[in-house]
Amino acid sequence: MSKETKKQLGILSILAIGFFLGFIVANNNWKYEPKALAADANSTEKYSPVKARGRDFYTPNSETLQPNEMRLLACGTGMPTARPKQAASCWLLELGNGDKFIFDVGTGSAERISAFQIPYNYLDKVFLSHLHTDHFGDLDALFVGGALAGRQKPLRVWGPSGGTPERGTKYAVDHLRKALTWDLDGRKGITDPRGYHIEVNEFDYRGMNKIVYQENGVTIRSFPAIHALDGPVSYSLEWNGLKFVFGGDTYPNKWFAKYAKDADLAIHECFIAVPDMITKFKFTPQSALAVGTQIHTAPEAFGSVMSLIKPRMAVAYHFFKDFDTTASINDRIRKTYKGPLSLSMDYMVWNITPDEIRVRMAVVDEDVWPPPATEKPQLPDASQRIPYSKEIVNGKLDVQDVIQPTYDEINKKYGLKEKQD
Ligand SMILES: [Zn+2]
Ligand SMILES: [Zn+2]
Repeated sequence: MSKETKKQLGILSILAIGFFLGFIVANNNWKYEPKALAADANSTEKYSPVKARGRDFYTPNSETLQPNEMRLLACGTGMPTARPKQAASCWLLELGNGDKFIFDVGTGSAERISAFQIPYNYLDKVFLSHLHTDHFGDLDALFVGGALAGRQKPLRVWGPSGGTPERGTKYAVDHLRKALTWDLDGRKGITDPRGYHIEVNEFDYRGMNKIVYQENGVTIRSFPAIHALDGPVSYSLEWNGLKFVFGGDTYPNKWFAKYAKDADLAIHECFIAVPDMITKFKFTPQSALAVGTQIHTAPEAFGSVMSLIKPRMAVAYHFFKDFDTTASINDRIRKTYKGPLSLSMDYMVWNITPDEIRVRMAVVDEDVWPPPATEKPQLPDASQRIPYSKEIVNGKLDVQDVIQPTYDEINKKYGLKEKQD
């Protein structure tokens, strides 16, 4: 290298560092970004007795999503049998363009979603893999509770058809909506009404890598899965050069092997090892073999699938992740797969960029309240209220005098003239 070239390179380096420092100063958020924990003993990070160190966990509502980044939140990784530690299948994917998608909303997952403190107006898109309750059992909670907590628009649901119309997503959601008739009628005229509607988008479960959603630079495709009956599907989502794949329940299938190939992150079910199903789940050996290896994907077979598709990160779920079950699952997967692996549990978080996939646990606030609505609330139309019958209204105790001070206080504070019924 000539002296002149060296000099030019030196000037360029100084300019580059200058621009970089300028960027740091210009970006107000920068100083609040939690840095990664120093990775090893050779790190040059300077520690201080008074300044906070970088974190190795995720706290909701504390990190700006970068324009080239996906963030995946595990809101349910368990089974149809309820337990406090693990809700059933639910995955919340946030993109750097602001879009957010929920894949499955299994039993118990609505409370995990709430823990991530995301305004509900952003959580209006749900993609169902199939209609087992451990994959859509909290749709009612997200639908009604989400509207009450700030979703001021219809909930949009995508899901597969079935072998008959009655086994399809449209039938399930329409009838769920009917089952909620009393709930929804009772809310008329009392709260912002805009969230209490569901839009159903049913597509053919036989579609082979068919596009089922395409908006705002995001493409979601569906392909069939093999599980219990005709109907279940898996999804891929592509955005900004990144590919995310979510597999619902399935026997290992050739479509996942083909269409999930080269995913940046691929989620696939991985069932509890058969011996543990017998001793801990109290299955008969016959049922354990059928359920654990034929209706679902056994850990060894999960490994075979991941060895075929070679994702940057393989994510296993659908098992109880305990001190005495995890080793067996890991050992069995490792017989057939050596690549990057997350044995998932609720509140696990993945940050996915072209350069890095970072896996952490979230630390959540159990006392969480609803996040703010992102648009001005619409006042309810009191004329929409459905009145009590005379017989029921006559049963009211006379407590108006003890309630009146609350009306007086609120009317004064907010300049209102509200009256008791
Ligand atoms: Zn299932
Ligand atoms: Zn399942």
